[in-house]
Amino acid sequence: MSVDPRTYTYADDVLHDRIILITGASDGIGKSLAIEAARLGAQVILHGRNSEKLEKVYDQIDATDGARRPSIAVLDLVAANAEGYSTLAKSIEDEFGHLDGLVHNAGILGERYTIEQYDAVLWQRVMHVNVTSAFALTQVLLPLLKISADASIIFTSSSVGRTGKAFWGAYSVSKFATEGLSQVLADEHRHAALRVNCINPGATRTNMRLAAYPAEDRNTLKTPDEILSPYIYLLGADSREVTGQSFDAQ
Ligand code: NAP
Repeated sequence: MSVDPRTYTYADDVLHDRIILITGASDGIGKSLAIEAARLGAQVILHGRNSEKLEKVYDQIDATDGARRPSIAVLDLVAANAEGYSTLAKSIEDEFGHLDGLVHNAGILGERYTIEQYDAVLWQRVMHVNVTSAFALTQVLLPLLKISADASIIFTSSSVGRTGKAFWGAYSVSKFATEGLSQVLADEHRHAALRVNCINPGATRTNMRLAAYPAEDRNTLKTPDEILSPYIYLLGADSREVTGQSFDAQ
């Protein structure tokens, strides 16, 4: 029977002992996912650029009954160089020996301009944070993911990564590229114990959404906590055979 990831229900130990790195875990969807994954038994590695915000998430997880104490990995994806990525991978290798889950969630919106007006430097920054850093991080972490008997990579897309929309500029193009990266990687590992999928969270009540739609009624939006089922499904063993797909969280 096929599972609808949006309505997937799970046991409280569904991620027991899984080592999972979540990028952009300091806020929004990544923060909610980190707290829920830890509650479900995962050893979570919280990635972000702001130590203070990450420590608050750490404290929240530490105060959660039964959750394993998380780790923190600080790396600014705008400034990170090859050495920064390698150091992050080495610290995961030294502490845990392998990785079971990698959630590429961190992202930036950029500005809402037409292509004609889009600032070239901002264009590069958005593409760099949203796409190139996910490529670089995947590359250094693949050896650790391949040690796992059941590894999962999740990329984060958007509806403007499937159909282009005026004024979404580099963000939209970066999400098309993310879908492409996910598909290429999935195909390269179609015979391996590594699945690779994409999730489009849909309109979700976070700071990024507020920046994109400052005038909308936020109460009409799902909260990050309400859209987590597909992430948990793809991170847990129930999605073992699922790869190369792109899901909507709503
Ligand atoms: P958010 O609340 O703005 O969170 C973004 C996260 O990415 C934060 O943890 C942020 O860190 C981190 N980040 C940004 N730039 C970074 C950098 N240079 N280095 C390291 N970390 C960085 O956004 P969100 O709405 O939760 O979005 C999460 C993902 O879902 C994104 O990929 C977004 O494109 C996608 N998405 C969201 C929606 C929506 O409606 N919310 C819809 C479709 C897709 P700080 O806390 O330090 O800023």
